[in-house]
Amino acid sequence: MNHTVNMDELVKKLRAAKVRATLPRLLILRILSESNQAMTAYEIEKAVAELNSTLFLTSIYTVLRSLEQANIIQRYHKPGERQAVFSIGTQSGSVICECIKCKKRIEVDQRELDQNLQQFYQQQQLNVKSYNLIIQVECKECT
Ligand SMILES: [Zn+2]
Repeated sequence: MNHTVNMDELVKKLRAAKVRATLPRLLILRILSESNQAMTAYEIEKAVAELNSTLFLTSIYTVLRSLEQANIIQRYHKPGERQAVFSIGTQSGSVICECIKCKKRIEVDQRELDQNLQQFYQQQQLNVKSYNLIIQVECKECT
């Protein structure tokens, strides 16, 4: 937990996605916003308990699914890991390097990458809606 999240922003985010701002949804969004790493449903369950709230794992999965369908969060599978991890949608088009050891995340300045991608989309006549890419790295503290 490294920064405080503005709950109004979260409510707006849900409304913009035409999702009702229920308490469990806000709670899980808050946890994912405050986390600087993608989390598994189990980690979210633990974080909920630390906030003195209770959400059963099945409810957490239901909420995660609805947030995922609304494109507010993304689900990832990391290679070699069975558990899916969830992270709040950074703006679409984000490229993040995540250290496989300390889980630190570094956002990539992808303006140059974007230019190359734009060319590719045009050549292939693709209408890209959004993308999120996590590149697994070892950061300099961990190597
Ligand atoms: Zn590291």
